[in-house]
Amino acid sequence: MNNKPTIIYIMSDNRSGSTLLENILSKSDECFSVGELAMLKGHLLKNGPGEKWNWNCACGNPLTDCVFWSSILKQTYLAHPETFATGLTWNFKSKALALNGMFPFLFKKKFLKVINQPANQQVTNTLSELFRLVQEKSGKNFIVDSSKNPLQALAIYKKITGFNVKLIWLKRDLRAIVTSKTKWKSLNKKKEKSMLKLLLDVFYYRRLCYTVSTLVKPADIIELDYKTLATDTHSELQKIFNALGLQPFPTQQFMELVEDHTIGGTPGRFSKKPIQYDDSWKEQYQDNKLAYLTGGVLNKI
Ligand SMILES: [Zn+2]
Repeated sequence: MNNKPTIIYIMSDNRSGSTLLENILSKSDECFSVGELAMLKGHLLKNGPGEKWNWNCACGNPLTDCVFWSSILKQTYLAHPETFATGLTWNFKSKALALNGMFPFLFKKKFLKVINQPANQQVTNTLSELFRLVQEKSGKNFIVDSSKNPLQALAIYKKITGFNVKLIWLKRDLRAIVTSKTKWKSLNKKKEKSMLKLLLDVFYYRRLCYTVSTLVKPADIIELDYKTLATDTHSELQKIFNALGLQPFPTQQFMELVEDHTIGGTPGRFSKKPIQYDDSWKEQYQDNKLAYLTGGVLNKI
């Protein structure tokens, strides 16, 4: 045992319940959730995802005016903006990384190379400083980061000192992720891809997560399923308590923001909602049996 504080990093694809999990953990007296810390710089520069909430903190204020973040940003971003970087640079679409879908063992070295690139070292330097200041300011022993990105997870796991790092790999049925992203994409007027192509994309992403999972000690990672988390929240929470050494706290029935100062997250997070799981994505495969079956096979690899 050591007395170091712990970073709990949630690794997942988009639309897989990371905001729900982050919100549940934020209710523990021992935890402080920063949300998607990787998106902090984008929120400060007002570019990238976040336009819907004007890149504000969950408390509704611009991050530089927020009661939690303003002093931390004075010591970091505002003091040295040129070296401030919060999101790892990597190209998951590159052919070499896509191959990882079938042969993850070939890519361990490549992953370690990516996190050691100078630009990415700058990211881990910034994150080190941020985690230290967040821990100091919040006084909490567990900092929850729901940035999702698997290479960011690996960089934090390998490079951040002064903290224990634990990963929660949150999975969801690949077919559900696809339909959720499709809805999301048409809302955002992005071009659509066929279901099969999207299924392969989310499969590759899951294999990237898998590769990262092979690069951490088994004691430092737990796997959860979004559907189980949303339908049997109480028993999934006990798993988390046991694995991370958190004191048990009551299971909430609702997802809601309570004095949160999180960055990013699902756009629906601002209204209080009962925790429940929506299986209606299956209807979208009624005329697309091939995609449904293919997704079922990919789920099992
Ligand atoms: Zn705030």
